[in-house]
Formats: sequence, C-alpha cells, structure tokens
Amino acid sequence: MDIARSSIARLRRAVQDREWSIERIADSFLKRIDRYDGILRCYLTVDADEVREEARRQDQAIRQGGPIRPLAGIPIAVKDNILTKGLRTTCGSRMLADFVPPYDAAVVERLRQAGAIVLGKTNCDEFSMGSSGENSAFFATRNPWVLDRTPGGSSSGSAAATASFLAAAALGSDTGGSIRQPAAFCGVVGLKPTYGRVSRFGLTAFASSLDQIGPLARSVRDLSILLHAVAGRDERDATSSLRPPDDFEGRLEGHVQGMRIGVLEDCDKPTLNREVRSAIDRARSALEDLGCLLEPAQLPNSRYAMAIYQIVAAAEASSNLARFDGVRYGFRVPGEHPLSEMYALSRSLGLGAEVKRRIMLGTFALSAESAEAYYLRASRARRLVLEDYLKAFERFDALLGPVTPTPPFMLGEKTHRPLSMYLSDVYTVTANLAGVPALSLPVEFNRDSLPLAVQLQTPHFQESDLLRLAYSLERRLDLEPPRPAFESMDATPQSPE
Ligand code: GLN
Repeated sequence: MDIARSSIARLRRAVQDREWSIERIADSFLKRIDRYDGILRCYLTVDADEVREEARRQDQAIRQGGPIRPLAGIPIAVKDNILTKGLRTTCGSRMLADFVPPYDAAVVERLRQAGAIVLGKTNCDEFSMGSSGENSAFFATRNPWVLDRTPGGSSSGSAAATASFLAAAALGSDTGGSIRQPAAFCGVVGLKPTYGRVSRFGLTAFASSLDQIGPLARSVRDLSILLHAVAGRDERDATSSLRPPDDFEGRLEGHVQGMRIGVLEDCDKPTLNREVRSAIDRARSALEDLGCLLEPAQLPNSRYAMAIYQIVAAAEASSNLARFDGVRYGFRVPGEHPLSEMYALSRSLGLGAEVKRRIMLGTFALSAESAEAYYLRASRARRLVLEDYLKAFERFDALLGPVTPTPPFMLGEKTHRPLSMYLSDVYTVTANLAGVPALSLPVEFNRDSLPLAVQLQTPHFQESDLLRLAYSLERRLDLEPPRPAFESMDATPQSPE
C-alpha cells in the first residue's frame, strides 16, 4: 500500500483504526519529498525533523489514550504566504528570504488544532503576483504531468505537491485565480471560498478585498474535509463571516437532479481553445446525465473584469506592500545610507520586477490626480460585476465555465509578456471581484497528459451546493489520471536554497 497516494479520508481511517502510525504516514511523504522534490521543486522549506517529532508526539499521545483529532497526522502543505510560527515564510520574495514568523495564521492554528501536520511551505509567485510560479525569487516549480510546463500560479507549489503526492492536500490563496488556475494546470481540485468564509489573519495581504485562503486536494471529499477544518469566524479578521461552516462532507452525497446550471457564454466562443472546450463539453454532458438543467448564462460586465481587477489589485497591493520598507521586516540594504535612500534601495533590491510593476501601477491609480479616473471608477465597475452575478443567480443555482483560456503553457513562454500572463486569469478574476465561491475540477487529460478543467461557481456561502455538484460531477466523470512522468526519472535529492 502506497500511503502517500491515499486520500485524506483513507488516512483518517487508518489513523483511527491504528492501522498506520502517524510517524509512518509522515515518513512516506518525507521520503517522496526527498526523492522527487529535487525535480519538481514544490517546497521552499521542509523541516523534516520537526515533522517527524510532531508525528511521534501525536503517536505517543494516542498511545496514552488521548483523543484522535479529526485530521490527526494528515500532512498538509501550506503556501509560503501564510504565516507559520517558527517556520520560515518567504512569500516567494527575497524581501522575506529569512523571515521567521512569531505566530501562526488562523488557518494554520486551526489545522494544528485539528491534528494536521504542516509538512512544509510551498513555492509561489512573489507575494502571489503571477500565474506560473515563475515570479518566485527562488526557483520555478514544474508541472508534475509534463515537466517543461508551468504548474500555474501563484499557488504553484501547493498544486504541484498535491498532484504529485508530496502532500495529502494543501492550502493556497486566491486573489484573482491563484488557487483555481494552478489546480486546473495540475489536475487537482481547488476552491476559492466565499470572501469571508476563511480567516485571512496571518495571510500576507496582496489585495485585501479579493484575497481568500482555500484548499487544494485530489478529490472533492478531501477538499471538503480541509475546508471544514479551516473555515469559520475569527475575531482577528473583521471581514470573516459569522456563519459557521456547514457539514460540507456530510452533504456531498445528496442528489443534484433538477439543479439549474447556467453555462457561461465564454464556453461557446469560437476563440476558446479547442481542448478547453472539449473538457467543457464533456462536463456539460455529464451534468445533463445527472439530471441538471443547463441553459446559457451571461455575466455581461465580465468583459471588463480583467481591467477592473488589475486596477483594484494593484492599488491595494501598493498600499499593503508599503510595510516592506527595510525597517520592520525582512531585507535591508547593507551599509549606511540616508533614510529615504535606505528605503528605496531596500525595496529596489528586495522586490522583484512584477511586484514593483504592480506597486507603481497601484500608486499611480491611487494618486490624487488619477484616483477618480482609475481606482474609484474600477470600484464602481466592480459593483456591476457583482450585480451580474446576483442577477444570474436569480435563475441559476450554479454557473459552469472555463478556468483558463488554454491548457498549461510552457515554462518561460510568458515570462516576458506580462499582459499575456495576466490573461490566463481572465475567467477566474470575476469570482474574486464578486466574492462568490468558485471551484476548479479536473475533467480530462489531453494526448500530451496535460490536465484540463472546468470552473463551477455558486452564490455567496453556497459552498455546500458547490461541493455537492462537484462531487457528483467528479464521480460521473470518473477520471483516471495517467502516471506522471517524473516518477520514472532518477531523482537526485536537492535541498531548496
Ligand atoms: N495571477 C493573478 C495576478 O497575478 C492572480 C494572483 C492571485 O490570485 N494571487 O494577480
């Protein structure tokens, strides 16, 4: 039995039945990381000794008759923009290359309380700005299915680690698509929860009105289990909702017959990539077989979504990232400099090109002369996108559409074409602007073994419906992933820098 290939549900049972010790489970994952992460480069930091020690502590507590917690011994990878006490958290930036947080993010606290083990910190685009993982200041993660392709981003390491069984599941963050797009590119399930469903306390802010933490997993059931563990009110995030999490897992099995599904018009655009369209068509007929009622749907203002997103996200980023000034956190330029020069040099050297581009764009969009023309206008247009959703959800229980315009692209293909890179999120940013929950589900693998996915969206706080629909669709599609290429390669273990 290959322990690392087990679902969370299976691992949970094995721990409860004392079939596998927690140390044995942790060891299976650490061994795979040792063997394969030199090729894939999902992780920035893995503290193997601490993982083993925590596993042993848990085993011992169970042996002494302690309670078995819901996620006891489940190894979870955490994106490196989520704070972990005592464990380096870089945000993929030189600025924070040596930063060790003094406290845990709310989601990490909850994971630990549930017994989960933080297996390591996963690579991501710097401060989550990017769609390929290549903006990480350290290295690029590879797509486990085809190694010269991007795993997507910005939660590149979380998606790749989950797909390659280097973690049971992972947490990522999604500001404009950073969970769903890498999930789609790596053939795993990814959920951006409703804005406010999961506490952002301890998530390094990129664009606070858009950011959400969410799970990536190999099945909808595992995704539901992980969402349940991290969701719910937290006093330290004023935008976190008072709604308690539903019994997401318990409600998976219900039927979806008669559910009204709006098929977004993007699905039928002749310009849509042929393979992406084929995946959508397959999902469409599966949903029909399940008894769902499919009809065309529109979000007319979604054509402005990318422009709105770029302004809002950059504006909020320019304000949020002002804290990285070489004084309070992280990198400071060596030597003695006058104060303002020290700020400028620390930021110039500590931050990468994409981050600086967003800061400059955002500062401009918020400046006294331009705020009306850009930021305030974008905020008003954002409201129109939300209204489109509210209107669509008067008729539909859920929306079906693409996640990405293309299958996973080549590493290096878009690194010098920022606009083309931004456009890989054209179908995902709308959900962030409106705050609705959105899920990426793998549907098929193309002839090159590249995964293709669809996106499902439901009204605010209807994650239960969203997960139940995805679960039914997943079962109906019954996707059998091919064996990833990297497993047959001889890996020389390499430690991250
Ligand atoms: N790729 C998008 C960007 O670069 C979204 C990133 C995200 O969701 N964090 O802004």
